Amino acid sequence: MDANDYLAMLDRAKEQLPENIETHDRFELPELDIIQEGKITIFKNFIDVTDKIRRDPQHLLQYLLKELGTPGTLEGRRVVFKAKISTNHIDEKVRDYTETYVICSECGRPDTHIDKEDRTFILVCEACGARRPIMIRKAARPEDANTLHVGDVVDVTINDVGKKGDGVAKYMDYLIVVPGTTRGTRANVKITNISAKTAFAQVTTEAVNH
Ligand SMILES: [Zn+2]
Repeated sequence: MDANDYLAMLDRAKEQLPENIETHDRFELPELDIIQEGKITIFKNFIDVTDKIRRDPQHLLQYLLKELGTPGTLEGRRVVFKAKISTNHIDEKVRDYTETYVICSECGRPDTHIDKEDRTFILVCEACGARRPIMIRKAARPEDANTLHVGDVVDVTINDVGKKGDGVAKYMDYLIVVPGTTRGTRANVKITNISAKTAFAQVTTEAVNH
């Protein structure tokens, strides 16, 4: 077969491809309709989103609650989060979910479903037939919110004095030792060292006591 025949054959093959593979238009989520009201956040068109990506609303909901670290409930077509959360933050998490659980990494289409093979979840693309394991990024562990790290700056009040005369503050379930402080001092301190539930810190800015 000469080159022209080959090209003609390619053209014919292309014509037979389903259109959605050729067009490649970028998948767009519906614009999220979210409002903050006092201490709650209402995701008004939650079900529009799960309809569009064809995923179980409870699956997306559980993902968001875990990622956002907040309680919340599905109420009709809306989700009510029991915390004030910015629209951008929720938008980012919905996009992460969509990238992980919905979008085909080969063709970029959202026409996929999830299969289970042994213990692995596989994203199967109905448009191009691609299959890929679903890689779940390690979510921030819930206990992280209650864990101190070196470099954290926290606002403490010194309410005790250690054996060596250093100020000691209770913070969550930690004792923070802050040299050079006295009882009653309120200060922002930077964590310099942590050993089990005892942390050492230095004062960054001392609150002015009137
Ligand atoms: Zn695909």
